[in-house]
Amino acid sequence: MLVAGLVAFAAVVVYRVSTAISAPKVLLGITASTAAMSGRRPTVVIVGGGLAGLSAAISALQSGARSVVLLERSAKPGGNSIKASSGINGAPTRYQKGGEPDRDFFSDTVRSAGKRFSSSESGQENRRTLIGVLTNGSSAAVDFLADEIGVDLSVVSQLGGHSVSRTHRGAGRTPPGAAIVAALLAKLAGEPNFQLRTNSEVTKLLTSHGRVTGVEYRSARDRAPAVLVGSVIFATGGFAGDAQGSLAQYRPDLAGLPSTNDPLPGMHGILSDVGATLTDMDSVQIHPTGFVDRTTPTAAVKILAAELLRSEGGILLHRGRRFVNELETRDVISAAIMALPPRGDHGEGGPRQWDITLLLDPGACEAAAHHVGFYVGKGLLRRVKVRELDAPTRATIAEFAAVAHGDEADKFGRTVFGHWRLKTAWEDSELEVCVGMVTPVVHFTMGGVLINERSQVVGFSPEEQRSKPLTGLWAAGEVTGGIHGDNRLGGSSLLECVVFGFIAGEQATRFAEASQS
Ligand SMILES: Cc1cc2nc3c(=O)[nH]c(=O)nc-3n(C[C@H](O)[C@H](O)[C@H](O)COP(=O)(O)OP(=O)(O)OC[C@H]3O[C@@H](n4cnc5c(N)ncnc54)[C@H](O)[C@@H]3O)c2cc1C
Repeated sequence: MLVAGLVAFAAVVVYRVSTAISAPKVLLGITASTAAMSGRRPTVVIVGGGLAGLSAAISALQSGARSVVLLERSAKPGGNSIKASSGINGAPTRYQKGGEPDRDFFSDTVRSAGKRFSSSESGQENRRTLIGVLTNGSSAAVDFLADEIGVDLSVVSQLGGHSVSRTHRGAGRTPPGAAIVAALLAKLAGEPNFQLRTNSEVTKLLTSHGRVTGVEYRSARDRAPAVLVGSVIFATGGFAGDAQGSLAQYRPDLAGLPSTNDPLPGMHGILSDVGATLTDMDSVQIHPTGFVDRTTPTAAVKILAAELLRSEGGILLHRGRRFVNELETRDVISAAIMALPPRGDHGEGGPRQWDITLLLDPGACEAAAHHVGFYVGKGLLRRVKVRELDAPTRATIAEFAAVAHGDEADKFGRTVFGHWRLKTAWEDSELEVCVGMVTPVVHFTMGGVLINERSQVVGFSPEEQRSKPLTGLWAAGEVTGGIHGDNRLGGSSLLECVVFGFIAGEQATRFAEASQS
């Protein structure tokens, strides 16, 4: 049912995008089940088994596709999606607290997109439209995951750059990305018309008469190239882990920073080879807080210190002092850290890092208990008594406590304090706080292949001298660009995977049917 809501919404959004959020649920029930009755055998080929690919698969099946094949290059599906730890955005949802429905998700996203929102590189109208589809589809996306897939998304927190709490996760131990992926895989496992082929890497898109007609791929078992024909949905993720390749090409200045992503090559070249437009490729998100593991401080891949650690009350310190509003957007916090002196002890070849302390008081530790338990188990966070902290840190705790309890305004502008509880550093000196070392990490690539509101990949036609959708090709998830602009809001990537994955699945299925009729 989500398919119908999102696609119908996408159809009208071009005419109606505004800051107002109209619940897509009013549009549900239009197209989803009709194709299932058609009796045809459309083939939908999905490339990439992260959240975007899995969402597209569910959507294609719900839309009546009788043969959906998902090709995944790794031995297991899940991609970077299973690492997602803070949650998925949705507004308005039944889990959000507060009297009025949340209507500011669109404007928060526009603000976060920054200067690129009004730049013309990928077309301002298209970005506005895509943000409208994303934010307006968010309520239905959360409802779908909770109600139809059975994912617990009942805990909501406020991440940096959001004006209210709208990032949903479960109350249990499993992080949200892994919980959503596992539930979708379980649902797909029971689908007779779905096939997941792991260890199968797509190397090329096939074209004929100006249309994308399928893919060429190699399986790890049989290295000879194989071909699969059908509507193609590309969901291969971003290039934040491609340090020596795409990242070096588009952002050479980020060379040497560690990453949260698996070290895998970006796949955008396969798309540009068939004429797809790449946009915002130099817009790369640096996450301010990747954990520095004391046992392997120079590791190039870091475990993310989830943003919710700060949203639940955590603070960031350099030499015992705060230096930024910890709930600012990621780009602002990362820039504030990178303006500080870096660590100088890694020598040649080590990653570029900074010595920043993340500190959670007992209230924040409790509110983020499942995450904290995981990080403590990995040795990334330590529990320390307040009296064991150095004098500048204790003084900072006392200052921040006064701010968090409303006695003073914050000089950095923080107004939301999560579950911070400590009153002073002296009276509470026997209590335990959680501390860890963090540093900025390459985290997410806002750039990618340009799509429209129907998740169609857009290219430039030299004959017609204009941009237009490429026939037979859709894309969803982090491989796409043209939505987030300068900065993606935390929680909006899982969301784009679901929203645009569903649209792509439905659209690709329709196309496959029409082609075969
Ligand atoms: C540590 C971490 C924490 C995060 N936390 C959050 C969060 O809390 N909220 C949020 O919204 N976002 C979060 N993100 C971002 C979000 O997880 C990702 O942007 C999103 O999950 C990407 O999903 P995807 O399906 O587009 O790509 P992926 O999940 O990366 O999946 C892509 C898949 O495609 C496969 N593939 C690639 N090329 C090929 C090929 N040629 N042939 C076949 N298969 C191929 C890959 O192996 C991979 O499995 C986080 C990211 C990280 C790294």
